[in-house]
Amino acid sequence: MEQEIHIILGFRLATGKVNLNEIVYRLKELRDPLMLRILEQVLMRYDDLISERLSHTEIYPSKARKGLGRHFRKEEGEARRYCRGRKVKRRGYREKERKIATALGGLSLRIRTVECCTCGARYAPLLSALGVGAYARKEVNFEHEVIEAVIDTNYRRLVDGRSIDISLGGIHNVVVGSDIDQTFQEPVFVKDLAGIEADGTGVKQKGGAKGELRAVIGVTQAGRVEPLGCFTNTAWPEVERTIKERLHEAEGHNIPFIYDGEPGLDDFLAGVAEAQRCTWHAPRGLYHALWEDGVKKKQSEPEMDKIKGLIGFELPEGEYELLKEEDKEAVKSRYESSKEKIQELIETFYEKGYCKGGAYLENLSHRLFTHIELWLKTGVIAPKTTSLLERVFREIGRRLKKIAWGWSDQAVTNLSKMILIRQYARDKWEEYWKEKLGIRGYFTIRIQSVEIMSCLTF
Ligand SMILES: [Zn+2]
Repeated sequence: MEQEIHIILGFRLATGKVNLNEIVYRLKELRDPLMLRILEQVLMRYDDLISERLSHTEIYPSKARKGLGRHFRKEEGEARRYCRGRKVKRRGYREKERKIATALGGLSLRIRTVECCTCGARYAPLLSALGVGAYARKEVNFEHEVIEAVIDTNYRRLVDGRSIDISLGGIHNVVVGSDIDQTFQEPVFVKDLAGIEADGTGVKQKGGAKGELRAVIGVTQAGRVEPLGCFTNTAWPEVERTIKERLHEAEGHNIPFIYDGEPGLDDFLAGVAEAQRCTWHAPRGLYHALWEDGVKKKQSEPEMDKIKGLIGFELPEGEYELLKEEDKEAVKSRYESSKEKIQELIETFYEKGYCKGGAYLENLSHRLFTHIELWLKTGVIAPKTTSLLERVFREIGRRLKKIAWGWSDQAVTNLSKMILIRQYARDKWEEYWKEKLGIRGYFTIRIQSVEIMSCLTF
């Protein structure tokens, strides 16, 4: 049965004076409050329809009451059980209006109470029909808008000008209360990835304490980010365990794991990935190692340039299969000579007494050419720097700094995960919210006609 809402708007206009901008400006102001009033009317009618069906069982068969009138039995004792009774007497309205924060603004609703003819319990059948819990104070669209606003760091704009009042603490609770930590856990197939990157970055937390946010991303063959996990103040072995659980069919697909020398990551994901030191950061680490050996910047700089030259060669572009053998040979010989020269350099360092520098480079030498070796073997062009992950951290960091100052571990983890997924898996993000909102085509509304009343006065 189609229902109608009649809206009567009153307006005044100063003929010959008003311009288009002012009209649009005022109409915009009306948008949310008008929608809120419509929402209120729809809900009140819904409440009436429900209580009508539940109280007139002689008219409505049990099929028409399906899904309505679920309530707990009125009985003493701890065990709360659902009542089978679906016939009620109307008992007027609840004394207090129910307040719910919605995306349109703060809703204040008069709600009907009914009494079950079977057990005598009094309840509000509208709330369970709406999927609003007994204590819920906000709806999911609102939650969605808050989170989108937090990610865009413009939550003030969301709050201002609407009757929504949500504090930073309230936003924190929305983020912490999200089920995001239990979702987006589906398996990732290693064969779809060209590499994995992990790193950490500092975050300011409660009382100005410094925490550490750690993130692991996959890089797809097309060079896109595949978020794998965010963690706050979590030890690397635990991070590794969680990530390994998500990675599937790792066998036979050895991909590089790229990192910039974070201690504790040398054997991260061993068995799934082959360590590759970031070719951009690695030479900088050498500078520090040599500096500890007492080597001045002037002396160490040429050595670093040498390393950069040895590791910084590009792979030929184009389909691997279509490349000429001599192109591959050229890469191979350059790779071999680079490796050899690095060995020579290590020996020179030790001879000169640069123990730290020698040890650093020796350790590094096993993890510098993984992407070249992989290419020579399979033709896969894997990432060789952590630049993609650094971009990810910049995205997260900028937002966390603005809003999450002083937040708990759970909040930082959740928000980082949300930022990552919205940024790099937009379609999955939209799907997640649609699912949460439960949009299934059970409510449609359209504009039938908008016309002016014919009482034109001059
Ligand atoms: Zn009952």
